[in-house]
Amino acid sequence: MIEVKKVAVVGAGQMGSGIAQVFAAQDYKVRLMDLSSATLKGALDNITGSCDRLIKKLVMTPAQKVALLGNIQISTDLADASDCDFAVEAVSENLNLKIDIFKKLDEVMPSHGIITSNTSSISITKMASITKRPENVAGMHFMNPVPIMRLVEGIKGLQTSSGTFETMAELVKKMGKILVESKDMPGFIVNRVLMPMINEAIFALHEGIAQVGDIDQAMKLGTNQPMGPLTLADFIGLDTCLAIMQVLHEGLGDPKYRPCPLLVKYVEAGWLGKKTGRGFYDYSES
Ligand code: NAD
Repeated sequence: MIEVKKVAVVGAGQMGSGIAQVFAAQDYKVRLMDLSSATLKGALDNITGSCDRLIKKLVMTPAQKVALLGNIQISTDLADASDCDFAVEAVSENLNLKIDIFKKLDEVMPSHGIITSNTSSISITKMASITKRPENVAGMHFMNPVPIMRLVEGIKGLQTSSGTFETMAELVKKMGKILVESKDMPGFIVNRVLMPMINEAIFALHEGIAQVGDIDQAMKLGTNQPMGPLTLADFIGLDTCLAIMQVLHEGLGDPKYRPCPLLVKYVEAGWLGKKTGRGFYDYSES
């Protein structure tokens, strides 16, 4: 196990900003990185908004919010991970992009540093293999929204050392979250089960079985889910849902995982869900 003081979070989208927030809340110094200053400023606004909601719910004090925000530094330069003991990669769900980030982190981080990925589905073993420290690589899969959801899936690649996994498990415990271990297979546990259900709901829409609202209502009231699968898909991001289905399809080789053509069309249209203002629902007014 290693002692972690500074954490790099690469990718400041909906997941990266939440991950930075939960580390900073435990007093870790966080370097939050993305391609542009505008994205990073947006991420800080999101974190501020999330803290304000937690203050309203009386689970955070204004002083804790100030301390939390003071723990986060933003940067567009991955070289700023050079003094970080631990990294979480949270860029878009694309293997080549993630490999690029892993190579750069491997170059700049100290030799004891651990590199994890928040990937929803991609092989940890493959990402580890392109680094010179495969034993220091693991999967750390947070759920959305990160400050609220308690589960973290922990994924051991073939090369992951027990020290790396235990360091990650300790961090998860400090955050008050629950770690569930999964083997490194496409989609791990959560997305192996969840994403085919979401894809099937999109097929139901595509085949005209029911309207968007009725599919969600049926699954909410009929199976006791807090939100319907099409709403959840919009919250996850339809680009992410498509990328996960593609990894399941390719990685497991079974046609039952083929992405619904309607999902492909929505992504082609740039209707990616809540984050772009339009998905199966219209969020332009909210
Ligand atoms: P997102 O689209 O909100 O954010 C991705 C971020 O990565 C963007 O801000 C983008 O600018 C940044 N990025 C892209 N290329 C980069 C680069 N070269 N360097 C630095 N930053 C770069 O996506 P998200 O929903 O936050 O998902 C991120 C990861 O988390 C994906 O691997 C996804 O599968 C996983 N994940 C998502 C969810 C979810 O519900 N959305 C849940 C668990 C895990």
